[in-house]
Amino acid sequence: MSPADPPGPQAAPPEPPGTSAETALRQCLQNAPDGIVLLDRDARVVFGNGKACELLGIGASAAPLALPELLTPEERERWLQYPPAPLLLAAQARPGRPGDLWLCAGEGCLRGMAVLRPADARMYEQAHIHLLSQALDSSDNAIFLCDDQSRIRYVNAGFVRMLGYAPEEALGKQPRELIRGPHTDVATLDRLGEQHRAGRAHREHLLGYCKDGSPLWLSVVATPLADASGSLVNVFTDITEAKTHEVLNGKVLDALVREEPLATTMALMCQEVERVAPDLRVVVTRGEADGQLCTLAAPAPLMAAGASGWEHPACMQALRRGRAVVIEDIASAPLFDSQRDALLALGLRACWSNPIRSTAGQVLGTLAFHCHRPGPPTAWHRRLADLCLHLCALALEREQARSRMHRLAFYDVLTGLPNRLMFNALSEQPLIQAEQQGTPMALLFVTLDRFKRINESQGHAAADGLLRDLARRLHDIVGPESVVARQVADEFTVLVPCCAQHQAAALCEQLLAMIATPTVVGSMTLHASASIGVAMFPEDGRAMETLLRHADLAMRRAKDEGGGRFRFFSADMNQLAQERLLLEATLRDSLRQGGLRLHYQPQVRGDGRGLYGVEALLRWRHPHLGDIPPNRFVPLAEECGLMAELSHWVMEEACRQHADWRRRGLAIPRVAVNLSASAFELPSLVEQVRQLLERHGLSPGSLVLEITESVMLSAQPQVSANLHALHALGVRLSLDDFGTGYSSLSHLHRLPISEMKLDRSFISEIGHDPAASALILSVLRIGESLGKHVVAEGVETDAQRRFLIDNGSPALQGYLFSPALSPGALEQWLGERAYAPSPRH
Ligand code: C2E
Ligand code: CA
Ligand code: CA
Repeated sequence: MSPADPPGPQAAPPEPPGTSAETALRQCLQNAPDGIVLLDRDARVVFGNGKACELLGIGASAAPLALPELLTPEERERWLQYPPAPLLLAAQARPGRPGDLWLCAGEGCLRGMAVLRPADARMYEQAHIHLLSQALDSSDNAIFLCDDQSRIRYVNAGFVRMLGYAPEEALGKQPRELIRGPHTDVATLDRLGEQHRAGRAHREHLLGYCKDGSPLWLSVVATPLADASGSLVNVFTDITEAKTHEVLNGKVLDALVREEPLATTMALMCQEVERVAPDLRVVVTRGEADGQLCTLAAPAPLMAAGASGWEHPACMQALRRGRAVVIEDIASAPLFDSQRDALLALGLRACWSNPIRSTAGQVLGTLAFHCHRPGPPTAWHRRLADLCLHLCALALEREQARSRMHRLAFYDVLTGLPNRLMFNALSEQPLIQAEQQGTPMALLFVTLDRFKRINESQGHAAADGLLRDLARRLHDIVGPESVVARQVADEFTVLVPCCAQHQAAALCEQLLAMIATPTVVGSMTLHASASIGVAMFPEDGRAMETLLRHADLAMRRAKDEGGGRFRFFSADMNQLAQERLLLEATLRDSLRQGGLRLHYQPQVRGDGRGLYGVEALLRWRHPHLGDIPPNRFVPLAEECGLMAELSHWVMEEACRQHADWRRRGLAIPRVAVNLSASAFELPSLVEQVRQLLERHGLSPGSLVLEITESVMLSAQPQVSANLHALHALGVRLSLDDFGTGYSSLSHLHRLPISEMKLDRSFISEIGHDPAASALILSVLRIGESLGKHVVAEGVETDAQRRFLIDNGSPALQGYLFSPALSPGALEQWLGERAYAPSPRH
């Protein structure tokens, strides 16, 4: 036989020469019940006995058959490897194959021998059972078979792994004998048994125990076998993890989403933990600012045993150290000396407390598990704790955020006092009580006088300091049952329960005196005063809204009267307030529909050489109320935001009138216009004035703007910029009501004003008060030396005129000469005095 010419399988090899033993052997081989083939190096069949030829379906004439064709690719691979190893190629039946092949390595030209055995049903079955048991064993579930007596007949490897019992420990036992533990629900067990005996399919969830006593949640599914033997296939699945997540995460997260109170959510969590792990008792605490612990949830017996909150030794330690504290046996732990007996009496042996940490790592509180068994926490308990810690942190952080929001929403950031919303909420209870008990109450409305000025002239920091100081003083002086709040800006309210009118008056006196003591803010000493309005419950109102409105009105009255005082509300204030509202609306209409007029009051020269100028003064004739003095409606315009519009109208109208007079040959040197403080805050003011003058062809020097001292002293950069820009434009600035305010003479020096108007109150004292006369004289001298004109206002008598003229007053204005006149009347007045050429009509 040459390798290049492989022979076919020899169905009936020629009788080789040899011994009779060899012949017998050959015969045996030839007639063996198994098919036997010999293979060459290339795994080609070089010999096959009778059975093999039959099995392979080959005859003597057939082409040489390569064994690899009988093999799967993997088997072929293994066979062709060198050196060849003996192979049991087919331990199981392979459909479509002749049967098992045992291949043995051989030497020389023979590479191996194969034994072929025809596949039979038994082999298939055996192989099937083998596969099945492999599959069952590889499952993570505990699968076992029970007979009709509920006795275990078979367990898979998963059963051994899950529950820890060897097959021989389980066989013959009832499942309940194995899995029942201290907290297993007996009713469920009984139900399972019943279903078992009835041979019915059923499923349950159950807390069971492993051989080592560790608990686990099982899903039990039992299915009867189809053979009517009453046997059941049981599958246990470990659902501990899923169960834990389902009840804890599901329910607790749901409570969080529903914004349940913190304590409710934590109690729910503890209850759920104790439901899935009945051997545990849970305590949750929150760390307080003072380093103590506040109990959020704890079983009542533990609270009674002094094992909750700051009394809990393990929790206190966990909080302070910021890491877990594990007490494996309370019976021997010195830490629990004080609570030991009580805890042991409750059957609790071990304790494990963990710090609850925020996402930022801050310790927010503690979570403690108490266990009925001594020892360290099991892996499951650890996972349970991790989950709970996560939920606790979530709940506590939300609570923190909520209380921060609460503070922002209900408390004033600057003073820490309740804000308007909180004040309303806090005053509800005292109102109800006063109503029920018939006790009087006082509501005080407190504001600082000239706060805006302080803010502008001393800066925001000083003003804030003043407000904080006032808040502190208010808080200190009223009793703890009173409610103090900051409404807005410098407005504070104080609700004083059980307070009669005379007591309220005494309290106001006390407050005013206290506010009058200087406040030191940084390096500044501020002198403040306040105005207080008081409304009494129930006379001045029963609802907080009414009381607030009335106290506010009374406060305004106190302010109008000069501040630094308190006023009780009276009914006439209410009427005034209503009138005010009505006026406001009509004023708006009048301004827009041409219902306002300007009258002009002449100012005469002190040297008797004609007209110095005129002052434009607003006049308003109300459709029903008649003439309303500017002192009443100008502040109203300020309050209702009409001032910019009003100022613009006055300037426009004054310039128009002036230009008209000029056009008609009426030489009026200058027209003075009153501008309120708020008009000077407009960035557009200078441009507005420039355009106005240009449009009417007036020189800037013919316009005088009268300003008050508060404008002059304003610290606002815009105001000061406007003043300087107007001055640079050539417009004259006049300081009105000079002498009544705070401006010191030194201010005059550096301010861009051209003129001072000596206030009427000094002029009226001429001849009565020598001090007033002396002051007038010194003002006139200063004006002279600074090169500023002094206009004397409110000259009513000849004696006043004489005094002023004798002392060199440059200009005089007052009823002695003329009140403010309509343009026509002024023209007539001028014509009569020949102060100016008659107008050309
Ligand atoms: P004021 O600027 O001090 O104006 C002088 C006020 O004194 C005017 O009152 C005038 O009629 C009055 N008066 C003039 N001479 C005498 C006198 O000899 N004796 C007395 N007892 N009073 C005299 P009026 O017109 O009622 O204006 C009151 C205040 O209203 C003005 O005080 C001014 O502050 C304000 N006001 C008037 N018109 C305007 C305006 O157009 N704009 C602004 N912002 N305020 C204005
Ligand atoms: Ca004036
Ligand atoms: Ca004045």
